[in-house]
Amino acid sequence: MDKQTPITVAEGDGIGPEIMAATLYILEEAGANISIEKIAIGEKVYLSGHPTGIEDSAWESLRRTKVFLKAPITTPQGGGYRSLNVTIRGALGLYANVRPCVSYNPFIQTKHPDMNIVIIRENEEDLYTGIEYQQTPDVCQALKLISRPGCERIIRYAFEYARHYGRKKVTAFTKDNILKISDGLFHKVFDEIAKEYPSIEHEHWIIDIGAAKIADTPAQFDVVVMPNLYGDIISDITAQMTGSVGLVGTANIGEKGTMFEAIHGSAPRRANQNVANPTGLLLASILMLVHIHQPEVAARIHNAFLKTIEDGVHTNDIFKSGVSREKVGTKEFGEAIVKRLGEKPQQLTPVDYQISQREAWAHHGTTVITTKRVLVGVDIFIYSHDAVDTLQEKLLSLNSPSLKLTFISNRGVKVWPGGIPETFCVDHWRCRYESQGPLKYQQIAAFLHALADARFEVIQTENLYTYDGKPGYSDIN
Ligand code: NAD
Repeated sequence: MDKQTPITVAEGDGIGPEIMAATLYILEEAGANISIEKIAIGEKVYLSGHPTGIEDSAWESLRRTKVFLKAPITTPQGGGYRSLNVTIRGALGLYANVRPCVSYNPFIQTKHPDMNIVIIRENEEDLYTGIEYQQTPDVCQALKLISRPGCERIIRYAFEYARHYGRKKVTAFTKDNILKISDGLFHKVFDEIAKEYPSIEHEHWIIDIGAAKIADTPAQFDVVVMPNLYGDIISDITAQMTGSVGLVGTANIGEKGTMFEAIHGSAPRRANQNVANPTGLLLASILMLVHIHQPEVAARIHNAFLKTIEDGVHTNDIFKSGVSREKVGTKEFGEAIVKRLGEKPQQLTPVDYQISQREAWAHHGTTVITTKRVLVGVDIFIYSHDAVDTLQEKLLSLNSPSLKLTFISNRGVKVWPGGIPETFCVDHWRCRYESQGPLKYQQIAAFLHALADARFEVIQTENLYTYDGKPGYSDIN
């Protein structure tokens, strides 16, 4: 027998221990070749003084096994507690979040009988870096960071996933009609990488109409890749569309670790009643088995699960009279699956995992881009209660030999030159200064000094660069 693969397991809070017990029982009965290291995470750990909900000693296990099967946890109410998932994703570099969302028609009620989508969400960047500021009494800012290596890794992962799982199409969702630079980079990299996979169809949708289309006709989509925030929202919608949030599992994949979990939370009100549906965690554990190269066990469990669903043995959340035959608890649902190990579904499509390697296939180096980068100006953000006419007069009275004020905008709307009185303004002004010749940062710094001497309150600056002659900053609307 092959050596057992060590995995780290956390039972979590609320319904966590019950759904984990059912899942581990099925894995054991199916012959999963794993050895389990248990760690404590969640509410008790938070309340014992660990702001991230995980003890230092637990990291040793995660670093050693690199495979984490995690039940949901309860984040205590009140301030100061950091999201455990965000902490683990960041610390282990889990850049890809993979969520297969499948309907089980006609056995589980859904408005979308033909749905079989995999959402691949970028997991580390975008608005989730958590960099936020209240810059003025009126205005708060959150930083949306999109990097080329981040885009390359997640988009290549999506195409590799499609290739290895026999999927036909990869779709990208962005909002690059508005976010031309940040989401524009994601779209650009998507088009570049798609060229490396000519046998896989590819398409891009603007997120708003793409989301509407996915809600209406999910069967039109196959693998869908998107930046973090859109992926967070869309993958919850597509999971719910399958019939219950209890039905979807997810894999978080990185080069140095992995985490597998149900998408739902700890459902505290359902805890200790043997009513929770363990499917989400079970399907996550199947993703884990494929990842640790035990595809036969994964398929055995998955097919027994499909047969159980098909036989109408359902937990409370998916039970429907007339369709379901037997309402069972968490434990009995697990036992029903174990009873069917070795069987295949008759109407639902059986699964057959033929993934021959660990997911090393997904991780490639990223491209080093060489461009000519030239400093051409600066956007200076000023906190002021002045009216725009007063502000521009004061600013124009300050001469800079190298920088010229070209416009002032407020919340993205140009208010000088050529503004209109109807524009509602807040206390946060963007003043664009462009260079009248070659520019050095020292000249910007000197001008900032002059602004400070003139009692302007500068709250933020953004240097303006061109890349191979093209502006790397947004123009005014
Ligand atoms: P939730 O997902 O726990 O519950 C939402 C609804 O779905 C509830 O009605 C619940 O009873 C039901 N539900 C969820 N999972 C179910 C299952 N397996 N079987 C049957 N019904 C199920 O979301 P919530 O109520 O917003 O959050 C509860 C707690 O979970 C909070 O403390 C939250 O912070 C935490 N949470 C944790 C994770 C995680 O650990 N990954 C994710 C989301 C929420």
